[in-house]
Amino acid sequence: MAKGKAQEVQVPTDHEGVLIIVEQHGGQAKSVSWQLLGQGRRIADKLGTRLMALVMGHQVEEVAQEAIAYGADVVYLADDPVLEQYRTQPYAHTAVEVIREAKPEICLVGATYTGRDLAGAIATLVETGLTADCTQIDVEPPPSRLLLASRPAMGEKLMATILCKQRRPQMATARPGVFEALPKDPSRQGELVRVPVTIREEEIAARVLEFIRDPNRVNLEDAPVIVAGGMGMGGPEGFEMLRELARLLGGEVGATRPAVDAGWIDRAHQIGQTGQTVRPKLYIACGISGAVQHVVGMEGSQVIVAINQDPDAPIFQVADYRIVGDVHQIVPALIEEARRRALVGEEAVARG
Ligand SMILES: Cc1cc2nc3c(=O)[nH]c(=O)nc-3n(C[C@H](O)[C@H](O)[C@H](O)COP(=O)(O)OP(=O)(O)OC[C@H]3O[C@@H](n4cnc5c(N)ncnc54)[C@H](O)[C@@H]3O)c2cc1C
Repeated sequence: MAKGKAQEVQVPTDHEGVLIIVEQHGGQAKSVSWQLLGQGRRIADKLGTRLMALVMGHQVEEVAQEAIAYGADVVYLADDPVLEQYRTQPYAHTAVEVIREAKPEICLVGATYTGRDLAGAIATLVETGLTADCTQIDVEPPPSRLLLASRPAMGEKLMATILCKQRRPQMATARPGVFEALPKDPSRQGELVRVPVTIREEEIAARVLEFIRDPNRVNLEDAPVIVAGGMGMGGPEGFEMLRELARLLGGEVGATRPAVDAGWIDRAHQIGQTGQTVRPKLYIACGISGAVQHVVGMEGSQVIVAINQDPDAPIFQVADYRIVGDVHQIVPALIEEARRRALVGEEAVARG
């Protein structure tokens, strides 16, 4: 009975285009939004359709202009005081209204804390399927136009590609760092559509009383530099050195899974297949062997420096710069050099 009923559902034919929901906080967009616009552009071109973006917030027109510069053809802008801070109800309500109006066939959201919350709420309200936390997203060319949303499954041993054949839009969240943003082109032209926000403050159940930033928050996703450590660091004290180097370089500390499992550092720092995917400008891998499960999470970095005492360590195959040596000698030398440069910089500023 249930099987027969599922087959009766008609695939809506009036949905077209790819919609990316842009995430911003305080007017600052998350880089995953631009990465999704990059992948959305590739998918939209493959389908011969338009790429749309939805920007929600208060006083965020600049973000909408940025979305055009990163590849959107049309940007829906919902700008209203009720959207100043993220709350599930007004954001989901507004996004659903835009989806009902714009009728995209595909809708992609970043798999951040906010994006995961929002995407689930939207999918429920528009009664469609959602593939969460994807590491690959592609599309079958017309006529099927099916979204191929892939993610690790079965304890990360398999990749599963999930299809949503009968509902529209086809929805997915994608992990930060897995796709590459297009270069920002401020001269790009696009259409800006202002959308009214119809939900009123009195209708919203949640109030944000205070916003407290977690001082220990790790932001690997947007860090320009990541100094990552593996079992070669020898223990938690080894990671103290990495913290200092990361601080001097204006970056964050990353780690391999065994270092996390050993309790040397918190799981929020883990990079790789079961951790985060990152794309910093500079990735310094210290005492990391270069297992494939780690490399998939960092190979998109612009410049990779690897320090390992084993000249045959696989990490050197993906490294742009190789340093064969003991991390306990090399990292302190890098810290010293970074401190010297910081001092020279401060003196230059003081001299004017
Ligand atoms: C399903 C699954 C999912 C996984 N997911 C992840 C994941 O998300 N992220 C992840 O990182 N791993 C993951 N792993 C584990 C992965 O397979 C590797 O075991 C792990 O990446 C290796 O960590 P490592 O490089 O720190 O340790 P090791 O492989 O032990 O390497 C240590 C390296 O340090 C070098 N070294 C030692 N001492 C020094 C020194 N003093 N100076 C310089 N170099 C030194 C050694 O030569 C060696 O190359 C996963 C595994 C499975 C099965």
